[in-house]
Amino acid sequence: ELRNNTIIIVFGASGDLAKKKTFPALFGLYRDGFLPEDVKIVGYARTKMDEAEFYKRATQYIKNPDDDPAISNKIDEFKKISTYVSGGYEDDPSFEVLENRLKGIESTYNSNERNRVFYLALPPSVFIPVAQRVKKYNYATDGVNRIIVEKPFGKDLESSRELLGALKQHWTEDETFRIDHYLGKEMVKNILILRFANIALSSAWDKNSISNVQITFKEPFGTEGRGGYFDEFGIIRDILQNHLLQVLSILTMERPVSFAAEDVRDEKVKVLRSIRPIVPHDTLLGQYVAANGKPGYLDDDTVPPHSTCPTYAATTLWIDNPRWDGVPFILKAGKALNEAKVEVRIQFRDVAKGIFQDISRNELVLRIQPSEAVYLKLNLKTPGLYTRALPTEMDLTYKRRFSDNKIPEAYEALILDALKGDHSNFVRHDELDVAWKIFTPILHWIDGKNGPRPKPLPYPYGSRGPKEIEAFIKKCDYTRSLEGYSWPITNLA
Ligand code: NAP
Ligand code: NAP
Repeated sequence: ELRNNTIIIVFGASGDLAKKKTFPALFGLYRDGFLPEDVKIVGYARTKMDEAEFYKRATQYIKNPDDDPAISNKIDEFKKISTYVSGGYEDDPSFEVLENRLKGIESTYNSNERNRVFYLALPPSVFIPVAQRVKKYNYATDGVNRIIVEKPFGKDLESSRELLGALKQHWTEDETFRIDHYLGKEMVKNILILRFANIALSSAWDKNSISNVQITFKEPFGTEGRGGYFDEFGIIRDILQNHLLQVLSILTMERPVSFAAEDVRDEKVKVLRSIRPIVPHDTLLGQYVAANGKPGYLDDDTVPPHSTCPTYAATTLWIDNPRWDGVPFILKAGKALNEAKVEVRIQFRDVAKGIFQDISRNELVLRIQPSEAVYLKLNLKTPGLYTRALPTEMDLTYKRRFSDNKIPEAYEALILDALKGDHSNFVRHDELDVAWKIFTPILHWIDGKNGPRPKPLPYPYGSRGPKEIEAFIKKCDYTRSLEGYSWPITNLA
């Protein structure tokens, strides 16, 4: 439940995440009446700016394309509940200034309860100094305190343990909300219901029916001048180790005892612990090169010359448990590809041959973005006077089926969960630990810790990735639908 007398403090309020995601999500919740009644928002960062400048920045990504006066009014109200404090991240007096401001706001409350949510939209280098000082100077004694943090949670198992260990000295697990924003996405949350509320699916959800699974992230643009940050992490840390692995764990876990956060997370950790650490043999790395007038990765001035950082990666994960023994799970992600898409593609096994030749496999596709959809590729009889199978689909396109329902932004869903104290869609410390255990060997190999760095395969900007991906996917038994499957509807994206 929501608690009244709550202040949300956004650290790094001048930054990219804050303006693009945090403030628009807070506004969305405010507009729809989901924030606690008397909520106040305090932005905090080093940048010196007056309130007018702060409001301008904090609201610049809030959408109001038709200048709807109702939304404009809400934005004005939203400004009235927000203020800004400028201060450093590592000097104590700034946190005392902040504390005075918070106390000032709280002095207007008509009860003694004080709840504070601290959102760290900050680079990881200042997570710990801020977490420590907030605990020391700004921890409310008569209410609930919560801290929300964002990836990157370290760079490998060791650095992640160090970071988490340092945070744990000041904040309990119960107070900590580690965001993986994929867990806030509608279609990712849908997986639990889709799997466990449908016996038609759940009875086919294992190695006996499923041949292989692909979880794919494709982005149509490159680093575009933000290569400095990216080069330090690479596509595996940016997408696979967190977002795609989270999707995989929900897709493959056993049925939880209940929807309670710890029951769900217990099952996720259990299945993650059954995944073998990834080996180079099961990995394909790529880096985009200039094509069609678009620059290559190494042409980005913010990327170090000769960088071998992968901008594309595919890796096959194996789950050593009775349900999934032998089924390849391919996680693949890349920048500068031919399209924007995040999807899960579950390919079923062949039916017995005999009466059929060349028949397509069933595939269940969950399109996470853009335009949420679930479709199941099915073979049906070609309409007319033939007895020929035709690959077609059962299709659930959200925009058509649920045209009246607004799908919330991932950050809206997650911030609301944190305000309610629901941890279901946040990453538990042991979950993060296993995730790093699975990926650390391959990351150390890529970073050249045990020998020369592997050279990524080149692929043209705007392509589907390195051409070697075809053979890689084939090795995992993926068989593409025969020619004949086509999608005639064009105006849904
Ligand atoms: P950012 O814009 O680089 O940093 C946020 C704010 O922190 C800046 O406005 C700056 O504020 C301060 N800052 C920047 N560099 C600093 C430094 N070296 N030392 C101390 N303060 C510094 O970062 P962001 O993109 O908002 O991301 C914040 C966190 O969210 C990061 O952990 C990031 O990995 C994560 N994240 C971001 C996105 C995204 O879409 N941007 C998505 C997922 C996760 P002042 O100078 O005013 O103090
Ligand atoms: P698809 O886009 O044909 O992709 C199917 C698989 O084949 C993906 O794993 C893809 O890999 C791979 N692939 C794509 N092009 C290839 C190529 N030239 N050579 C080898 N492999 C290739 O998807 P689909 O499920 O068969 O659907 C076809 C089209 O219909 C899609 O545009 C889809 O969005 C649309 N459709 C839409 C809906 C809906 O909106 N509700 C429902 C059904 C179908 P990568 O992902 O790595 O490229």
